[in-house]
Order: sequence, then C-alpha cells, then structure tokens
Amino acid sequence: MKVNFKDLDSGEIEEWFTNQGLDAYRGRQVRQWLYKKLAFSFDEMSNLPKSIRSLLTDKACINNLEKIKAEVSEDGTEKYLFKLIDGHLIESVLIPEKDHFTICISSQAGCTMGCRFCLTAKQGFNRNLTSAEIIDQVIVVKRSMDTPDRLTNIVLMGMGEPLDNYSAVLMAMKNLISNDGMNFSHRKVTLSTCGIAPLIKKLGEDIQVNLAVSLNAADDKTRNFLMPINRRYPIKTLISACRDFALPNRSMITFEYILIKGINDRDRDAYNIIRILSGLKAKINLIPLNPHHSLKMTPPSMEEILHFRQILIDNHFTAIIRKSKGEDILAACGQLSGRHNKME
Ligand code: SAH
Repeated sequence: MKVNFKDLDSGEIEEWFTNQGLDAYRGRQVRQWLYKKLAFSFDEMSNLPKSIRSLLTDKACINNLEKIKAEVSEDGTEKYLFKLIDGHLIESVLIPEKDHFTICISSQAGCTMGCRFCLTAKQGFNRNLTSAEIIDQVIVVKRSMDTPDRLTNIVLMGMGEPLDNYSAVLMAMKNLISNDGMNFSHRKVTLSTCGIAPLIKKLGEDIQVNLAVSLNAADDKTRNFLMPINRRYPIKTLISACRDFALPNRSMITFEYILIKGINDRDRDAYNIIRILSGLKAKINLIPLNPHHSLKMTPPSMEEILHFRQILIDNHFTAIIRKSKGEDILAACGQLSGRHNKME
C-alpha cells in the first residue's frame, strides 16, 4: 500500500523521509506543497530533485477523492459528492456566510449511530474515512473556490460520527490546524458529536477545537427513542463529560437541538434543557427538523419554535434558530445520504 502523507503528522513524515535515506527537511517541503499549495501531484513539487519526485510517485499517493458531482443551491450552498477509492460515496457541503465560507465535512462513509431523524443513518455503515480522506474534502473544495482564502471555518457535521473514528479524525484536525499544515484557527474548527461521552473528555485533553453536542432531547426516555447512543451514555453521563471538557479557557459548547413536532418541542422539554445545562457555558442551536419523506416526523411551526426559544431566552440561555441551508439540494443537516440520486 502506498503511503498517504496526509495520514501522518509532521514528525511522522520526517521519519518516513529519513527511513528512505533522505533528509528530514524534504518531508517539510512536501507538507508545504500538500497543505499550502494544495498540490495534487509530486511532479508539481519543483524544489524537490527529480529522483525524489519519482521515488514519491512510486511509494506515495496524494488525492484519492474523485469528485463526482457538485450541486448549487438557490441560497449559494454547494454540495459535493465524492467517490472513495473503493467506490463508497461521501458528501461535503460548502456554506457561504456573510464574510466567509464554512465547509461541512464527513468523517465516515455511512454511520452506525442509527439516529431516527437522520438520513445518513438509513444507509447504514460502510467504513471509517482515513485522515487523508477527511482532509482532502477541504483541499478539493478549496481548490475549486474563486476565493479560497475566505474558507475559514470547518465543521465536522457531515456524514458519520467523528468520535466513532477517533484516531483518523484527530490526525485530520491536527493537520488542518497546525501552522505547517492547513493553518486553520482552532477556534474555527468544530467537531459535532451525538454524545460518545468518554471520548468527549478525551478530545478535550487531546486537542483544542470547538465542541458541538447533538442533544435533541433533554430527558432519557425521549433521547433513547431518538438516539440509540443515549442507552449507552445517558444524559447525566453526557453532560458530566461536557463539564469535564469545558475548561476555563475554552469557549462555549454548542448544543444542537432539532425541533420535532410533538416529540421534543413541549414547554417541559425547554425547561428540561434549562435544568440539565445549568451552570455550563452553553449555547443552544435550535434546528427545525429537515423533513424527508422517509421520516414520520415534521418540524413545529415557526410560531411554536419562537415560543420554545423564548423560554430558553427568558432563562438566560443563548438560543438561536438555525435554519439550515441547501435544503433544495438535500444538503441540509441530516440530509446527506451519499447517494447519486435523490432518494425516491
Ligand atoms: N454524528 C455527528 C455529526 C453528524 S450529524 C452528530 O451527531 O453531531 C450533524 C447534525 O445534523 C446533528 O446535530 C444532527 O442532530 C443534525 N441532524 C440530523 N438529522 C437531521 C434532520 N433531519 N434535520 C435537522 N438536523 C438533523
């Protein structure tokens, strides 16, 4: 198997080069080409001697993502469909904001978590992505942008559960934020999890990025129904892991809460949120459920959503309503299926 340098950190690349009998600084040069110049071939790496370039072409690979399709939504959101080397499909979404772009990337082909409202869950699980496949989503999209410098924010909120693919996700984030990597600000990288509690704590120890937790229900009965992971790590365990994560120098934890009519949108649900999050530096993103026909659930009316939000605000929580973008091209939260055609 050819090595992919995006699966290695800077120390490991240097080690690879010295093992080949080459100088370690050649590894640093390659990293520059990969992450700063977004190179797609070793031939481009003009400050390497030809002999090294041909050795690298033999022993290493660069990009294994094949762009199958890009769709643009009416609101400017772009959805990219990628084919992995073994044929599995994944999606990434480029979201225009006021003065920058955010990219939403996938961490797995499919997902094992089985959340009841999520379209990715319906396709089951294929495999974990490698660190290189996670990073290449950013690189391929960035290469296709007119204003690549405006891509400043990354959210791991696409297909898959990032903490279920911990080591590859950690390596990818390290390379995305390190100075000699893609150099994204760690304050602008957000990992979103369904709540694998022990790994939330570990993440807090291993790297400094923002955390988003898909809460979606504030009592165990409702959360067990919506999100099977809750049976393993119930709300009390989850919130306690969040408290451990929330070190003093960190910013707030974002709690995502999909609003689903008749299931988690009652007044008492809002009061439960207030109770379980009390004392945490938390901000709440209310997301009206993005419907699709395979779900038997619908979002509440805007009036009901505003009422729910008001309860949180009256109790001194920051709560915003986040209508996700790109619904018309099935690029919104929970709609990524990795299918070529829209689901029938
Ligand atoms: N596994 C991770 C990241 C992927 S899901 C996680 O659970 O956080 C990304 C976000 O999309 C989560 O907040 C999830 O709750 C939300 N989501 C899933 N299905 C949705 C739907 N049908 N409508 C709105 N949001 C949805």
